[in-house]
Amino acid sequence: MATDTVATRANSPEERLKIEVAACTRLLNMEGILGYSGHVSVRLPDRKSLLIQSFDASRTDLGPEELFTVDLDGKVIDGPAEGRPVNEVEIHSEIMRARDDVNAVLHYHPEIATLFTVVEGIDLIPIKNHAMRWASGIPVHSETWHIDTQELGRELAETLGPHHAALLRAHGAVIASESIPALMIDTVHFEENAKAMYDAAQLGKINPMSKAEMDRFHSLFDRDKHVVKLWRYYLSRGLESGTLPVEWANFLFPSERV
Ligand SMILES: [Zn+2]
Repeated sequence: MATDTVATRANSPEERLKIEVAACTRLLNMEGILGYSGHVSVRLPDRKSLLIQSFDASRTDLGPEELFTVDLDGKVIDGPAEGRPVNEVEIHSEIMRARDDVNAVLHYHPEIATLFTVVEGIDLIPIKNHAMRWASGIPVHSETWHIDTQELGRELAETLGPHHAALLRAHGAVIASESIPALMIDTVHFEENAKAMYDAAQLGKINPMSKAEMDRFHSLFDRDKHVVKLWRYYLSRGLESGTLPVEWANFLFPSERV
């Protein structure tokens, strides 16, 4: 980890996005959502390449200089002199190739959500109000091997289709969002919903939100405002705890980003 020169270099959109990826990774780790594995990516402004962390870098203290720039074929364009991008970079590149609306992707291995891929008779569905993000469905991809080729990545992108999240059988999940702050908040709500559904299933028969209830929530909900509010909350927690270097603050808080 080396952050000393970041603040002086972070005037370009690419450098700012590097700090966002590093911050989001650290914050998800701080929240116990990312452990030793899992990865965050963001699409670069050229629309044809993305940033993703190196295979060896820790999620606890990921620095911007530990990110590779790869194209949508997964080929390295730029990055650290040594090492290589994470396995499963094709998850990110093929979802971004297939989905023009997706600019940020998380792949991780959640304990609770993954249970729903190996238990018969119960699917992970939205049961909390903020989980209406996944009202269109959370498809389950049948491949259990690592998604480490373009073909496997393409197949996963096909399973994801127009949805905002997918589960991978006996493996994990992908979350797809429009930006890094939105990805962070979607992931927090995805986790909350999976835990709530797991707990609710112990209590009795689940009575999920109806389409009308979800439509009503959706009609009243300001997603951009909600993302900004929660992103600020997690940034503050990250700065207070020392998870994020103070010099990143200027590049991460929404009011300073415009
Ligand atoms: Zn994986």
